[in-house]
Amino acid sequence: MEEKRIYTLLLGSNLGDRMRYMQFSKELIEKKCGRILAASSMHETEAWGKTDQDDFLNQALLVESTLNPLDFLDEIQEIEMALGRQRNEKWGPRTIDIDILAIGSEVIDHERLKVPHPGIQERFFVLEPLVEIAADWVHPVLNRSAKDLLDDLRCATP
Ligand code: AMP
Repeated sequence: MEEKRIYTLLLGSNLGDRMRYMQFSKELIEKKCGRILAASSMHETEAWGKTDQDDFLNQALLVESTLNPLDFLDEIQEIEMALGRQRNEKWGPRTIDIDILAIGSEVIDHERLKVPHPGIQERFFVLEPLVEIAADWVHPVLNRSAKDLLDDLRCATP
């Protein structure tokens, strides 16, 4: 039997026809990576890190896949390239950005892939969509659920 994993992803887009890029990327994810089991609502958020750019659309997904983590990363990077992502500016505008937030309770510290994604607990634009689809997922290093992490961030934010 092939091993199945549940990948939690965050999609983001802030360039061009954002809704269309989000839709395209989900079609390609289903074709190349696996079945989408759940999708959060679409969140519109201000750009983080570099604020002089258009707002982002963000959406979290749960995807069931038989790919191993590095093969999965290869596929999502190909999708980003196919949809015209330019990697010339850190935190700059992008047609589509696909991050792996988590893979169940796996912890990966590879030069190309850090799982859980290191920024999860600091960012409302990650935690809010994540809580919609996986409130009870427990961060395997911090031992806090997604809902707890969102509550913690709200408490820590003035
Ligand atoms: P970004 O520009 O935010 O899409 O970052 C892409 C880079 O982050 C790539 O070089 C990936 O190999 C690396 N990376 C490390 N961990 C992750 C992750 N959990 N999800 C997606 N990319 C990751």
